[in-house]
Amino acid sequence: EETRSFVARQPQSRAHRDRAAHLAGGATSNWQIAEPQAVWFSHGSGSKIYDVDGIEYADFHGGYGVSLAGHGHPAIVAAVQERVTRGTHFAQPTEDAIVVADNLAERFDQPLWRFANSGTEATMDAIHLMRAATGRDRILKVEGCYHGHHDSVEVSVLPEPDDDIGPPDRPHGVADNSGIPDAILDLVTIVPFNDLGAVERALAEHPDQVAGMILEPVMMNAGIIDPVDGYLAGLKELLHRHGALLTFDEVKTGLTVGPGGVTRLVGVTPDLVCLAKAIGGGVSTAAIGGTEEVMSLIADGRYEQVGTFNGNPLAMAAARAMLTEVLTPASYAHLDRLRDRMTVGLQDVIDRHDLPWRVVTAGAKGCVSFLPHPIRNFRDFLQLDGRYGQAHWLVQANRGAFLPPWGKVEQWLVSVQHTDEDIDRFVANCGHLASRLTAP
Ligand code: PMP
Repeated sequence: EETRSFVARQPQSRAHRDRAAHLAGGATSNWQIAEPQAVWFSHGSGSKIYDVDGIEYADFHGGYGVSLAGHGHPAIVAAVQERVTRGTHFAQPTEDAIVVADNLAERFDQPLWRFANSGTEATMDAIHLMRAATGRDRILKVEGCYHGHHDSVEVSVLPEPDDDIGPPDRPHGVADNSGIPDAILDLVTIVPFNDLGAVERALAEHPDQVAGMILEPVMMNAGIIDPVDGYLAGLKELLHRHGALLTFDEVKTGLTVGPGGVTRLVGVTPDLVCLAKAIGGGVSTAAIGGTEEVMSLIADGRYEQVGTFNGNPLAMAAARAMLTEVLTPASYAHLDRLRDRMTVGLQDVIDRHDLPWRVVTAGAKGCVSFLPHPIRNFRDFLQLDGRYGQAHWLVQANRGAFLPPWGKVEQWLVSVQHTDEDIDRFVANCGHLASRLTAP
């Protein structure tokens, strides 16, 4: 019924799909292809987005975690407009890059920065840097963490049901995409999240071979999984003891969980941190920050960190506005207030319907976890029945709130322009889902 009404409301999205004969798969990324059909958008304003059928949604998708400023934020619009008229690309640095690097250095407690264009590029550079700095090739990667679509990290992200993923404490590496050579599996050791013992064992089994470890310090591509107390500090200590490095992939968590990411929240500073998504205020950019020791490889040319669009002036202008004008302490206070309103509202739904679900939040991000027990790692997450996420997405979309259309549980993102009314709409829709599921 929800699926039928979803399709019936969107004839123009269907028509766009039919017209898109020259777009492979009828979309611009495989993750835009949704069931029962992709929604095509025309514009956004504030906390709202509008599809090609003219339907308004409160945007909780946030472009997979990018739209922390909301849409058409005056500071971003002014910065981009001003930049457009003065040239958008020189492949030479512009002054905004200095301000952006200074701001990120302060927020993330890392002295040296470079820019790239996507989360994929940032994590690729970080892994190259860990290898270059140590002269070792092997990396440790957490089962279920997503770091983009380059070879070393498209391993054990979201296995297919018939993949041999091995025992929970010793997961097998599984190539996650066609086109990823099996040979890469020899260079990647997969460990479970929140398990220091597994890391210690991997380091002992591959003495002097591990360049470093990359992980999302709060796992966000499997709902939201917090690190247990001491895990991140323990990783840093263990890895350093074995001459290996630590990279935090804060592409999703970066500015959304707080002004200085998980790095600041937990007080553990890794050797390298990767940022992308929200930092560009809606324009594509990414950043890699690191210690003097590691980033000196870039400074002296031992590692060539390059890219035609690195530090693109349009992206730097938007990032400058995002960091210096949009993400003020008052904005974070607003985000915290909305998070609390959401948590209280959803918890009330759960209590009223006596459901075993949980509300899990991390700053401006959050999700409803449709499992009775807390999720500590990816194997716990795999027990989740994906039909809940799909039903939630449809129920929200049919009632004016848009969540990411993919995955068992993607997180919502609340922007600085969201209002109490947006939150209340989301909560009411979730209440509707709960009533439908518990109706006799
Ligand atoms: N790292 C993390 C944690 C991500 O969530 C993503 C994207 N979802 C990436 C890296 C890759 O970023 P991009 O899609 O910009 O390449």
